[in-house]
Amino acid sequence: MRLKLNPNPSPVKDSDRDAKIAAGGFGKYYTDNMVVINWSEAEGWSEAELKAYGPISLDPATAVFHYGQEIFEGMKAYSQPDGSISLFRPDANAGRFARSAARLALPELPVEDFIETISTLVKQDRKWVPNKVGESLYIRPFMIATEVGLGVRPSNKAMYMLIATPAGAYFNAAVAVTVWISTEYVRAAIGGTGEAKCGGNYAASLVAQKQAATQGCDQVVWLDAIERRWVEEMGGMNLYFIKGSGKGATVVTPKLTGTLLPGITRDSILTVAKDLGYKVEEAMISIDDWRDGVASGEITEIFACGTAAVVSAIGAAKSQYGTWTTGDGTPGPITKQIRETLLGIQHGVIEDKHGWNVKVC
Ligand SMILES: *Cc1c(COP(=O)(O)O)cnc(C)c1O
Repeated sequence: MRLKLNPNPSPVKDSDRDAKIAAGGFGKYYTDNMVVINWSEAEGWSEAELKAYGPISLDPATAVFHYGQEIFEGMKAYSQPDGSISLFRPDANAGRFARSAARLALPELPVEDFIETISTLVKQDRKWVPNKVGESLYIRPFMIATEVGLGVRPSNKAMYMLIATPAGAYFNAAVAVTVWISTEYVRAAIGGTGEAKCGGNYAASLVAQKQAATQGCDQVVWLDAIERRWVEEMGGMNLYFIKGSGKGATVVTPKLTGTLLPGITRDSILTVAKDLGYKVEEAMISIDDWRDGVASGEITEIFACGTAAVVSAIGAAKSQYGTWTTGDGTPGPITKQIRETLLGIQHGVIEDKHGWNVKVC
């Protein structure tokens, strides 16, 4: 891939940038640059360009505005103790981006090109990478259908873009979130787009998120579409249930049935939990298992995981069947241990035995 460097001639002043990083939060400020690559059926991928971050101009009849043909990824760059910067398993994000593209009838960007755009942007904007543990530079690659016209068909033009935003601690690690288990709406059905990271999945989820808020909950938990019984995910994160306690605990996550988004954090935790000496399982978990397990004390902790928040404890779960609170409603010891281990690996303070960190600069 050819990549033209045309960096922002007037980047944000050092003091302003540092104030923006220190402000924390998520997605409020963006780095000085972005990367754009255009694709057309006739010519394939164009030369990539790194240029100043800024608005883009599109015809109002551009396909993405009407039929939602769009995919995205979410990953992070972490500063390391030696001052270098690493990505966490970028090959996994690249592979998933290509699979999402295939499902949404968008062109597949080769894995090495995807990673090169990211390392180029991170190198260029490296001063935007926060250096506290728990903070990172959140990277958002995405692709939109750019053919102009209202006919419903797979777009013959697409645009890949890459933007980045400094991320503070996303959720407060000391607080457990409360969830609303939706029995009315579903996120995904077999044959649908549940496995793809596409904006449409999120658009369809927002009404349930609103309902969760009305119920006084922070997030929605999704059940399977057919029986409305099998626990799938929480908002944009995967779920983990801990049975038992101490060294004999078993760490269980819902099995990937084709409707769940296969999270890279989920996958990494299967390995981290095993390394920590726990039994790990991918299994079908029903809402009855959840209610009964919490009541009997067999389920001792529940957490959600994803790139943005890493690991976030779940306390109370509310649904039309009642409210069940796990443990004392605060983050449990295994949840904290897994969170700290994974964060430690990502930040280079715990040995990276599996070669997950990829140094970019
Ligand atoms: C992105 C995402 C996740 C988490 O995936 P990670 O790769 O761990 O960030 C889980 N569920 C949904 C619906 C998602 O979009």
